[in-house]
Amino acid sequence: MRSALGVMLASAVSLVVLVAVWFWTYSPRAVLAAPDTVSARLAERLTPTAKSTRTLADEVEVTATIAARPSTVASSAALPSAALPSAALPSPALPAAPLQPKAGCANADALGVSRVVEIDTTGGPGFGFEHFKQLDFLTDKEVVLTFDDGPWPGNTPAVLKALADECTKAVFFPIGKHATYHPEILRQVAAAGHAVGAHTWSHANLNGKKMTEQQAKDEVEKGFSAVKLALGAAPSPFFRFPQLQHGPAAVAYLGSRNVAIFSCDLDSFDFRAKDAAQIVNTVMTKLDKQGKGIILMHDFQKHTAEALPTLLGRLKAGGYKVVQMRAKASLQTLAEYDEGLVKDMKLPTVSARALSNVVQTVAQ
Ligand SMILES: [Zn+2]
Repeated sequence: MRSALGVMLASAVSLVVLVAVWFWTYSPRAVLAAPDTVSARLAERLTPTAKSTRTLADEVEVTATIAARPSTVASSAALPSAALPSAALPSPALPAAPLQPKAGCANADALGVSRVVEIDTTGGPGFGFEHFKQLDFLTDKEVVLTFDDGPWPGNTPAVLKALADECTKAVFFPIGKHATYHPEILRQVAAAGHAVGAHTWSHANLNGKKMTEQQAKDEVEKGFSAVKLALGAAPSPFFRFPQLQHGPAAVAYLGSRNVAIFSCDLDSFDFRAKDAAQIVNTVMTKLDKQGKGIILMHDFQKHTAEALPTLLGRLKAGGYKVVQMRAKASLQTLAEYDEGLVKDMKLPTVSARALSNVVQTVAQ
């Protein structure tokens, strides 16, 4: 009897194992997971092959998912560079965790993030086909959302809310002056997990006739230092030229600083749109024609903030997927500009002595 019972038990266990194997192999879950696997394989395909020149794979790596690293994704800009040692980052050779873009997202139908790419900014790679055609890392139907000219009350928080409602991520290029006016808003941008680069100190045209190389350098560095001061942490080494106007000297300088340059594939021209609908139409018309791209918008603009919920909905309905770009390491700002900025802003000194101890009326 005992041996018969043993055989029955063994058979039952075998059956459970067989069903489990079938379930993992052929069940609808496995089918649903297929796009994730495809996304993860891209990392292997992008493994560097050429040693002599920098290739796409040198600059762009598909990395871990937001599901796997929720807090660190949120802070490539919000953490000091020392907190993101490159050795600790996942290697493309390791099996990538499956993408679960909507994990932790209250909106089950959210646009989400389909892929996270990590950018090695060594040598100052350029992105955006409008000017830089070397690094074509987006596949069909993939977009990158970028926002310039903030932070700004009302509009930037509205943009952040629209992005959060869709559990998706963007790259922000704030103006240094604006960052000093509204540091608390810029901190919200970083805290939400978006990459924060810079867009000069005062939005000067760095390719203008009267712009000297030194002035251009000052605009770049002071802009980054202002972002650092606002965030209380190092910015991403991502830069966009005002009006997309770049000269060879400034491009070379950014290269020497290992700062990636962002142009765009698709300009929303939101700053001159008469209303939100026009922005949605412009972006979707261009996107349907081009099929993919880095989209340039402005969180500074009211119509953009108004348009974003609709635009993100249209992207989702159109089958577009958002790729999150983040920097492999953050930018080391230059101490002289950090210090100069603090002096310019006349920030309080370290002295905490009471007024009556410092200033005494001795004759009246
Ligand atoms: Zn701008």
